Amino acid sequence: MRADKAWAAVEQRDSTRDGTFVYAVSSTRIYCRPSCPSRRPRRDRVSFFPSGIQARAAGYRSCKRCRPDDIGLVNHAERAAVRAARLIEQAPLEPWTLAELARRVKVSPSHLQRTFARVIGVSPREYRDALRRKRFTERLHKGDTVSRATYEAGYGASSRVYERTMHEGLSPAAVRRGAPGATIRYTTVPTSLGTMLVAATDKGVCSVTIGDDAGTLAQELAAHFPKAELTSDDHDMRALASSVARMVEGDATADVPLDVKGTAFQWKVWRLLQRIPRGSTRSYAAVAESLGQPTAARAVARACATNPVALVIPCHRVVRGDGSMGGYRWGVSRKERLLARERGEQ
Ligand SMILES: [Zn+2]
Repeated sequence: MRADKAWAAVEQRDSTRDGTFVYAVSSTRIYCRPSCPSRRPRRDRVSFFPSGIQARAAGYRSCKRCRPDDIGLVNHAERAAVRAARLIEQAPLEPWTLAELARRVKVSPSHLQRTFARVIGVSPREYRDALRRKRFTERLHKGDTVSRATYEAGYGASSRVYERTMHEGLSPAAVRRGAPGATIRYTTVPTSLGTMLVAATDKGVCSVTIGDDAGTLAQELAAHFPKAELTSDDHDMRALASSVARMVEGDATADVPLDVKGTAFQWKVWRLLQRIPRGSTRSYAAVAESLGQPTAARAVARACATNPVALVIPCHRVVRGDGSMGGYRWGVSRKERLLARERGEQ
């Protein structure tokens, strides 16, 4: 197909070329038949595809006005092939067999195989595999791990994915490099101590912070994870965030998975803090002693001050030896209120 001839047909709304190609418009993400009555798009926004199938695979939707797919298919078998392609597009993870597809679109398997190849250009199986590969690379670009992307794309085993993507000249690791850093989803919830921001990777909670307003908390999150792709997600994060927020009010000891980086020492301190019962406190010196490092009280205080997940790691339960509050990353008055509530004083 020559682009200049195709463009001439679009400019003239040449209905005799309907069914021989479609044109797609990058600004609207819609594809049309050449004779579509809608306003002519700018040439530099137009690309051409042999049929709607390829346009949809490239992410375009069919025009509701000119219905570009309702033409050019002269017989029942060709329409059946397009319906079969639509079935695969709607559920590329289904283990479609030729027999099942043929049954669904009401033609014989051998007939479908032939017509599908002629109309679509590849076999049903190749078409399904191409859609799965596309989904797999999309997941990787979004920052998913290889194993998760493998699962999401419906592949049985990673080795098969490697085989296929290597065949395409693209290793999963190479795709991954195109998405630097992790994907972090976050949401904010109101609590009696202020606004709480809860953020998580696909492995677990990576940040819990408390502050006066959601905007500032989101800015701090971005500053803390400069290379990550941050996504505000009030829907998928809601359940996790509210279970963490309930810890503020004291009616849950949420056992949430964590994805937190720390030194071996920080983790020793953090694990120990997680064993301090609700309603009680320890001094920095006492924690250091429990670690077998009695002179490390200041290092313990630093580990508390760098705790990335408020409440989940209860650094608020560590106070000075003289009983005064000591510091708190999210404000000493919040620490006081938390401890008073945990002691049943509020
Ligand atoms: Zn149209």
